[in-house]
This record gives sequence, C-alpha cells and structure tokens, in this order.
Amino acid sequence: MASPFSVDDVPVPEVTGSDVLIQVRACGVVPNLKNVAYNYPEWFPFLPLPPLPSTYGLDPAGEIAAVGPDVLSLSPGQRVYVNPARSCGSCFKCRSGDQVACASFTFAGYFGFGPGSRQVFERYPSGGFAEYMVAPATSLVVLPEEVSFEEASRFGYLGTSYAALRRGQAGPDTTVLINGATGTLGVGATLLALAMGVPKILAVARNEALLEELRALDPRRIVTHSNNAGPCTEWAREQTEGHGPDVMIEALGPGAPPEATLDAMLSVSRGGKIVTIGGMDCKIPIDPIWIMCSQISYLGSAWFSTAQGEDMARMAKAGTLDLGRLTHLRFSLSQVNEALESAQHRDHGGFTNIVVMP
Ligand SMILES: [Zn+2]
Repeated sequence: MASPFSVDDVPVPEVTGSDVLIQVRACGVVPNLKNVAYNYPEWFPFLPLPPLPSTYGLDPAGEIAAVGPDVLSLSPGQRVYVNPARSCGSCFKCRSGDQVACASFTFAGYFGFGPGSRQVFERYPSGGFAEYMVAPATSLVVLPEEVSFEEASRFGYLGTSYAALRRGQAGPDTTVLINGATGTLGVGATLLALAMGVPKILAVARNEALLEELRALDPRRIVTHSNNAGPCTEWAREQTEGHGPDVMIEALGPGAPPEATLDAMLSVSRGGKIVTIGGMDCKIPIDPIWIMCSQISYLGSAWFSTAQGEDMARMAKAGTLDLGRLTHLRFSLSQVNEALESAQHRDHGGFTNIVVMP
C-alpha cells in the first residue's frame, strides 16, 4: 500500500477577517488517522474527506504568526492549541452555540460529518501537518507555559474524554468506571477524572502492566480490573458498596466484542449514565425495561468545545490535570508516514503520544 502523505512546498496562507495564522510546532497523530486515510471512503462513504491534494493533521498546537484585521484579543507570539472543530456558523444549532450539532460539523484536516463539510473544507483547507495553517480565532485555546506543544497536541482526545465526563456529570459525588482504560481515550479519561475530583475510578482493560501503571497515578483513588480475570460486572459492584458505578465511560474502539461493553454496562448503578466515545461499532442488545426501571441513560458524546479546551488548559496550569506521564514520540514532517505507522502499535498504550513536529 502506498504511503498516503508526501511533503510539498506551498505558499504560506493569507490571513483575513477574524482568522489567525499559526506557525505549527506540534501536531498529534491519532490512532484512527490510518483508518481515515485508507478505509473511510469505503467504510463510511457518507463522511466527506478533505479534497485532495490536502493537508491532513487533526490536533495542531503552535504560535500565532499573524492575525486577521478583525481579531481584537489575540496577538502574534501567543501559544495556542487549534481546536479543529469547524461548522457552518450560520444554522440554528451554530447560532445557538452547539457547534457539534451542526449538520456540517467538520474536523479540519481529518473528515466531516455531512454534505456541507465539503464547503467547510474549502473555507478551512489547513490541517496541522504543515509549517503554517489558518484557523478561526474562535477555535483557539490559549496555552499556559505549563503545557508543552507536545502535550497540547493531545488535547483532541483529552477533550473528547473531558466532554464525556462532563456529559455524565462526573465529579466528587460520583464513582466512574472507564472501560478500555489503557487506550488513548481511556488514559485521558483517567487523568481528567482525577483532575475533576472523582474519588473512585474503576479502570477496566486487558493489559495488566498498563493497568498497574494507571493505578500508580493515584493508588488511593484508582482500582483496576483486567478482563483476563473474567467479566468486570461483579467486581465493579463490590468496589462500589454494591451500588455499581454512577458513570461509565465507554472508551473501547472499533472491533471490540459486545461482551466487553455489556459486562461493564450491567454493573452501572440505578440512575447511572453510560457515555460512549471510543467508536466501538458492534451491535449490542439493550433491554428497555432495564433502562426504564433503573433509570439508565445511554449517551453518545463527540468531541468538545473550545471552552472545554480552555478548561483543560486552566486545569493543567493549576496542576490538577497532570500531563507529565505521557510519553512523546516525536517525528519530523518528512517522517509523517512513519508516525502514522507507529500510531498503530504503541507499546506504551494510551500513555504514548505520537507527535509530528514541523
Ligand atoms: Zn451550522
């Protein structure tokens, strides 16, 4: 199979209106990027990809190089993360402040969710695998000096986990079970649940060594269960005085078997919330009587808002969100195809952060 990316010389983009030109210092390589580049046209023909030739790259961070004439409160030199979420800006959902609900919701440099995404790609063709890119001022998260560019290039998956925890109303009054806890989203969900004051986190995954590493983040608050020891249902109940966890974050990815999610779901407390973010795509039987009688909520959550990105930046500045345990594997722009490959087999699981540094 041919390598999907090559390095070309193109002009530095012009910056106009309320847009900002960013000199990219780091761009995250998400594990799903290879699927997007190779398989999405066949698997999900209804999800538009950026028209080729195109600059991919989902999670950029860098320095502001120039601002458009209508930008009043950002200036060159500021360090920023670029939230790649784009939308039409004019529909009812956009005007109501719910950008993710826009029918034209689009990830710049990655893929879109509806036919209108093609127009969004024309408006914002830049992804993060480039020295310079243009983004709307409203997409920028200002980074404190405590957050490195490499750490910020992880904000996409961290933000996805954070938004899911918020949707599940996780906090000091809840117990949280994270299914698939050692993957990219799962490690992020664990770090953020710690930051949000969750007193007990039930981490469920397969890899025992990685689970132990996760537990070591805070042994007083994190308990772990390996699927190698059997279903987690009874264990999760025992860990929560028989009630079951209040919130379950489903972070398992495509291809996971249905039992892996059902075992965890059945442990959830009466009134509990299950939030799915990992993209697991198997069909699961849901019993409406159980959902009704136990008042269970099954929720989907996609991405996060720029405001939630600002929350994470502030938590990292305060030290409540500790990103210091991530291991960064750095690649140059010309090594982007190697970076894509290494994202497929990360021997440090979700602690690994694959970064292209233009
Ligand atoms: Zn819209």
